[in-house]
Amino acid sequence: MSLIKDNIDGIRRRMDAAAEKSGRNGDEVLLIAVTKLHAPDEINEAIDSGITDIGENKVQEILDKYDRVKPVRWHLIGHLQTNKVKYIIDKVSLIHSVDSLHLAKEIDKRAANAGKTMDVLVQVNPEGEETKFGTSMDDAVKLVDDISAECPNVFIKGLMCIAPLAEDPEEVRPVFTEVKALFDRLASETRERVEMRYLSMGMSGDFEVAIEEGANIVRVGTAIFGNRNYRQEEK
Ligand SMILES: *Cc1c(COP(=O)(O)O)cnc(C)c1O
Repeated sequence: MSLIKDNIDGIRRRMDAAAEKSGRNGDEVLLIAVTKLHAPDEINEAIDSGITDIGENKVQEILDKYDRVKPVRWHLIGHLQTNKVKYIIDKVSLIHSVDSLHLAKEIDKRAANAGKTMDVLVQVNPEGEETKFGTSMDDAVKLVDDISAECPNVFIKGLMCIAPLAEDPEEVRPVFTEVKALFDRLASETRERVEMRYLSMGMSGDFEVAIEEGANIVRVGTAIFGNRNYRQEEK
């Protein structure tokens, strides 16, 4: 039995348990395998072990690996520069990191050119950490309003956040609770092309707490593939 498959099976069991605690089924939560800095061989092994969705945080890595990875849904989960939208508009199924109207407008334009619409999440930065991208909680509603009003080819499908690093995931539970409350508020309101369906939060160190607080997408890298070889920690 492969290590990657063992890891995935173990994570799914932990996801099931966390979902049950919040009165849901584990299969209502999507596991995205975060494959940044991992090779196509490893990624294909994960896909053979049942992974349907993978996440990359850099456009260049998507382009490098795209033809060498088995059919799978690709997610862009990292910061996206406007000048790179054109390279991935026909490759990814969900962009998790929309945090400005400027970026949304570029996605809108490129989607229109490609004759398609694009599903996105709005990334929020609940603690206002300077090392992280994302809109502040206060500005998030206005951003959703503006994108809804001005980007006819962009469909907002939910919210994404990256919690602060913590030794003990319990420390960041309030962050997840706060983002879930914003998600619920937006879900209770009606806007064109806005449907609060996905709440993308939780990584290797905190996915169980995130699920307990309402996440239905978790993005897990290290717990599946082991440590990444960074020259420099990405942020
Ligand atoms: C790297 C990354 C993850 C996965 O982190 P792990 O701790 O390895 O699970 C999740 N989300 C984003 C945006 C990332 O860049």
